[in-house]
Amino acid sequence: MRAKKFFLHRPGSLEEAIALKKQYGDAAAFHAGGTELLVALKAHVLRYEHVIDLKQIDELKGVRLRSDGTIAIGSLTTHDKIANDPIVRESLPGYAELSEHVANIRVRIAGTLGGVLCFAEPHADAPTMLCALDAWLVLAGPDGQREVMSRDFHLGEFATARQEDEILASIDIAPQSSGTRSAYRAFGHTERPAVGVAAVWSIDNPQRLSLWAGAISARPTRLGRAEQVAAGLSPDLCADEIWNHLRLAVAEDAEDIDAHDDLHGGADYKRHLVSVLAERALKACLP
Ligand SMILES: Cc1cc2nc3c(=O)[nH]c(=O)nc-3n(C[C@H](O)[C@H](O)[C@H](O)COP(=O)(O)OP(=O)(O)OC[C@H]3O[C@@H](n4cnc5c(N)ncnc54)[C@H](O)[C@@H]3O)c2cc1C
Repeated sequence: MRAKKFFLHRPGSLEEAIALKKQYGDAAAFHAGGTELLVALKAHVLRYEHVIDLKQIDELKGVRLRSDGTIAIGSLTTHDKIANDPIVRESLPGYAELSEHVANIRVRIAGTLGGVLCFAEPHADAPTMLCALDAWLVLAGPDGQREVMSRDFHLGEFATARQEDEILASIDIAPQSSGTRSAYRAFGHTERPAVGVAAVWSIDNPQRLSLWAGAISARPTRLGRAEQVAAGLSPDLCADEIWNHLRLAVAEDAEDIDAHDDLHGGADYKRHLVSVLAERALKACLP
């Protein structure tokens, strides 16, 4: 099927894009790489008379370091660019590795980080890792800019905290200490992950684990019991000993996840995968 005809707008600045959205309202959608939007337009699942292409807006592209060391990933940065970016590879190797494995090369070179976050199809990788990294999102709208924590941005299936007239401008991550390591492990037998687990382990004082499961439910879920157990562990334990202490808490956290049987697998099978992937992600963070 072909998409119904639409007017294509190519603004050169954020202000221009926001003004266009104000002018055309619900009849207009923002467009980044188009890997989700164009498919939906062609299938006539969505219909917009105006498409506002954000690709001419340079300030939305690339990865930069802010003056305080914050890593700011422009929303129009593609998964492939993130995977190969020197700042991400140096400071967030676990996230670079995740980006290398998103979808297939055609999706990675066109699909953007902003697109996957705003579309909010739950079977995605980056949202889980960004929650574990305590990332925050910078949204630009008619009333200026505001920041939302990644964990508060995802409200459910195809639902986010972004207002219709807001553009996701950047995804920001605080500089990581030398004692912090992160890893992500996922499994799926379709093109998208059935379950993914992200771990961020910090041996700084206090010792801290941030552990999140995603894709299995409508929004990423914190594995809070496991995080609490990890905080009380002796820093001298080896990886196997740490996992032995966490195993039960992770399984209990997984039991609480609002998972459903679907084409990605049965709910119980996916909860079991959470434990398998949590062990792998955690051990990948430990020396
Ligand atoms: C075959 C296939 C396999 C995939 N497999 C995986 C996978 O394994 N793991 C994974 O994580 N993801 C996967 N994806 C999802 C992929 O990551 C997304 O399709 C891609 O990142 C979306 O980005 P885009 O730039 O193409 O978004 P678009 O299609 O351009 O936009 C998607 C939506 O977001 C809105 N939007 C986009 N950018 C902005 C912005 N800056 N501000 C406000 N709104 C915006 C658009 O209006 C639209 O509603 C897969 C997708 C496909 C098609």
